[in-house]
Amino acid sequence: MDFQITGQTRFGGLLGSPVRHSISPMMHNLSFRLLGLDCVYLCFEVTPQKLGQTVSVFRDLGCYGFNLTMPDKKAVMPYLDAISQEAELIGAVNTVVCRDGRLTGYNTDGYGFWESARQEGFQPEGRGMTLLGAGGAAGAIAVQGALDGLSQIHILNRHTRSWEAAERLVSLISRETSCRADLSDLADEGMLAEKIAGSDILVNATPVGMAGRGDDGKPEISGEMPVPADMAFSPDMWVGDVIYHPRRTALLQKAEQEGCRTFNGMKMLLYQGAKAFELWTGQRMPVEEVQKAFFS
Ligand code: NAP
Repeated sequence: MDFQITGQTRFGGLLGSPVRHSISPMMHNLSFRLLGLDCVYLCFEVTPQKLGQTVSVFRDLGCYGFNLTMPDKKAVMPYLDAISQEAELIGAVNTVVCRDGRLTGYNTDGYGFWESARQEGFQPEGRGMTLLGAGGAAGAIAVQGALDGLSQIHILNRHTRSWEAAERLVSLISRETSCRADLSDLADEGMLAEKIAGSDILVNATPVGMAGRGDDGKPEISGEMPVPADMAFSPDMWVGDVIYHPRRTALLQKAEQEGCRTFNGMKMLLYQGAKAFELWTGQRMPVEEVQKAFFS
């Protein structure tokens, strides 16, 4: 697997701030090497103020494309020539393909989530979901799920910061797709229990349960759950968590104890990258090798 930068090497990468912690360069560069593609993927610290200028330079220099992370996912949209249906509905772009100087934006986050759900045996067509949270990850999961054939989405969110965004998401899904969507307050435990009981899948898209840092700076596993600990789950239900650190959140541990099938956010991360790789190269990412190298 020798690799040399040549006069022909094409470039792309991740734009955002901060980006230095990202696993994406490892995933994509290993995949380029394994497939013998003369391409590199780098990280670029780019704030929204410098985004227009950077995108213009990337276009002029003939990159194959790039990813975007916070805070550039929405800010990039005015600089693109075309935007895919899911990215338009989600209102955010995480992948741009550059072909013959033309830039097309996509959002592969929702694809990544639903591909990981399918791998666990869950097919969204005709099924109902309870979704906790209404931020960036939740929006991508809801929109892609609706486009992929979910029949019903119950969104539960705190009646705070993102409530209006949640209302917009619900009306957009109901208007633009054949899926029905509704919104309830996460603090209403009776409503939460009712929505979960009527769903085939429960998805946590809030950061509740994510590992943090203690006062001494050491990693600390959170035992917090986005639902009451004594809420009953049907063993027929799937439970997915967008969190991947820790691998088994308190919610997933509870769901496992109740006999549910569970999955964490690890494969969402893997498959959103795999889809971006395919959009850039037309080739399938060697996900088994990438998973073994960086996700095990
Ligand atoms: P975001 O845009 O800030 O949205 C967070 C959502 O969770 C909002 O609806 C927020 O409501 C809600 N929330 C936050 N704290 C809460 C609490 N204590 N109780 C109840 N609800 C709460 O964040 P995001 O980008 O969607 O990220 C959410 C999680 O997904 C993070 O853990 C992130 O690491 C993870 N993620 C994973 C992947 C992956 O590939 N696996 C990809 C993206 C994100 P308020 O507005 O009321 O705060």
